[in-house]
Amino acid sequence: MFPLRVVQVGLSMSGVRIILVDTSHPGNIGAAARAMKTMGLTDLSLVTPHAFPSAQATARATGADDVLDAARVFPSLSEAIAECNLVIGSSARARHIDWPQMTVREAGNLAAHRATHASVAFVFGRERTGLTNAELDHCHCLAYIPTHSGYHSLNLAAAVQVVAYEVHMANQTLCEASTLASVQIPAPAIEMDRLYEHLEQTLTEVDFLNPAHPRLLMRRLRRLFNRAQPDAVEVNILRGILTAVQRSKRC
Ligand code: SAH
Repeated sequence: MFPLRVVQVGLSMSGVRIILVDTSHPGNIGAAARAMKTMGLTDLSLVTPHAFPSAQATARATGADDVLDAARVFPSLSEAIAECNLVIGSSARARHIDWPQMTVREAGNLAAHRATHASVAFVFGRERTGLTNAELDHCHCLAYIPTHSGYHSLNLAAAVQVVAYEVHMANQTLCEASTLASVQIPAPAIEMDRLYEHLEQTLTEVDFLNPAHPRLLMRRLRRLFNRAQPDAVEVNILRGILTAVQRSKRC
């Protein structure tokens, strides 16, 4: 009943997508493409870049023009991650609400395992201000690059390089081990978004959620479901329950 599959892991890196959000400097986009290519990553997505395509990006890509040419531009983060099963935010900062956090090494391992049978995204924020809390809400977990104390902020392309390196090294290890693994595929982000909308609507209808102050509750519920990482069948069951609750409330 559940989509458990036995797969050969550690063979392909095509399942890892790098997403840059609202990048100001096109040079950083080019440098990120170069960083990706050196580590075997080719799937680059850009959310509302300030300037792209750009001669500066191409100049900084030096030899990774193919990655830039294939880059896709999206109007929002939710559209960029729509088919992704695992979304990892790259962030130096700990926030007041604690998202699950791991080192970039742990995240690289997780991504390399998952990428063999599912789509994994690493999301990078703006040069000046990083990712907003609303953007972090879309992430299952956060990856941080451990730094020397007191100064945590890497240049955007340098952060992409470190993440890509860790994914590459983890993938190499998997290739060498050529492990067989049994895995459960989490539902894609677009289905999770529909679940959250349905949940919010239902909780409002049964007066559990006050629409005047909805944000914290929904954020906490997102975190709960992101930890559980339900698969498509489980999401359908949850939505079926919500529909049944709505039906009984309405009649
Ligand atoms: N002043 C910003 C820094 C943004 S740097 C802030 O504090 O968030 C641009 C992006 O590079 C960040 O959004 C993040 O995705 C990535 N980045 C920079 N340093 C990082 C670190 N130590 N760990 C993980 N990601 C980092």
